[in-house]
Amino acid sequence: MTKFIYQCSNCGKRYQRDEVRYLCRSCTKEYRPGIPLLGVLLAQFDYSVIRNKFNKSKPDWNLFSAVEKQFFPPISVGNTPFFQTEVLGKRFGLDNLWIKNDGLNPSASLKDRASFLVVAEANRLRENTIVTASTGNAASALAAVCASAGKRALIFVPANAPKPKLMQMILYGATVVPVRGTYDDAFRLSLEYTAKRGGLNRNTAYHPLTIEGKKTVGLEIWRQNNWHVPDAILVPVGDGVIISGVHKAFTDLKAAGLISRLPRLVCVQAEKSDAIHRYLKSGIYANAANPDTVADSISVSIPSNAHMARKAVLESGGFSVTVSDAEILQAQGLLAATTGIFAEPASSAVVAALKKLRGSRRLGHNEQIVLLITGHGLKDAEAAMRNIQLLEAVEPTLAGVETALSKRRIK
Ligand SMILES: [Zn+2]
Repeated sequence: MTKFIYQCSNCGKRYQRDEVRYLCRSCTKEYRPGIPLLGVLLAQFDYSVIRNKFNKSKPDWNLFSAVEKQFFPPISVGNTPFFQTEVLGKRFGLDNLWIKNDGLNPSASLKDRASFLVVAEANRLRENTIVTASTGNAASALAAVCASAGKRALIFVPANAPKPKLMQMILYGATVVPVRGTYDDAFRLSLEYTAKRGGLNRNTAYHPLTIEGKKTVGLEIWRQNNWHVPDAILVPVGDGVIISGVHKAFTDLKAAGLISRLPRLVCVQAEKSDAIHRYLKSGIYANAANPDTVADSISVSIPSNAHMARKAVLESGGFSVTVSDAEILQAQGLLAATTGIFAEPASSAVVAALKKLRGSRRLGHNEQIVLLITGHGLKDAEAAMRNIQLLEAVEPTLAGVETALSKRRIK
């Protein structure tokens, strides 16, 4: 760990590490439920120490960590595959398309990275209960990491979350409270709970270490890419914390003098859950009125980290794009059939975005483009089923097989 302070992303006020736990005290006075969080904190390290100590031949990633290694939970998170996909790239006329597959984390989503660091912080603070609201993935991630660390996870989740995600949380031994309402209701309720009953709140962006945990995916991309910065990274965006985390990775590296430029960040949202997209376009924030989308992981009316996400995209020279549910489901099939990756709808949105951007010249055909896959498709098999037809069984004879194959024109 390198020494750090927290700095408010709204007003710039600085706090010592243990002076504050969640948000900037000045900015929270302006906060009321129903709007994105104000005063989200960012860890600012002593970058001169990182610059002097970091050695590419023997990289010490703990230099970028905001919690001491001794508090880390035993579960292994991250180090997911990063590879070029020529077949999918050809479909879109892209010569240098890459994938970072974070659906291969222990609970099958990128959110394990945030939960890992928050549970490490709970170890440091000797908190035994960790509370979160989630659309599903953050909760199953927290439940998994808590299980490994012997902690209690208390989870508020919309009752209509996909069943495999609910199943995961329960199996990992979490205390699950399904809420008759939206994710935004669950978020508000979890804040009320920790304010009155205690425990460490892991809500995304509300706890600053969720951003620090998620930044590790950006650090990994840099390392796996032979210490090169890609030209652009496409990120599925709901609350705006993953994209902020990716941005933080590269701004940390730049502040430490290890890189000289940032990758352009492309914010991909579902058409109906598009609050950050509209905020980027107009500069004026408004909640998504009806964020109903098949991509449940990025379905949110009031993105908690909207302000920081917008800043991240603009600072990186990136842009945003929205995709429809039909485009997402089609892209899910295309990704699976060209790469072998079964991603959940939210992640498939980045592939749908590539199709939409084709010919727009916003992504150069020889630029290095990275698709960030944030969750596994088996987490919501029902969604995938909407787009495929199961096959009729054939008679158990060779003639039966040949008749079936001839109908499908397959040899
Ligand atoms: Zn502030």
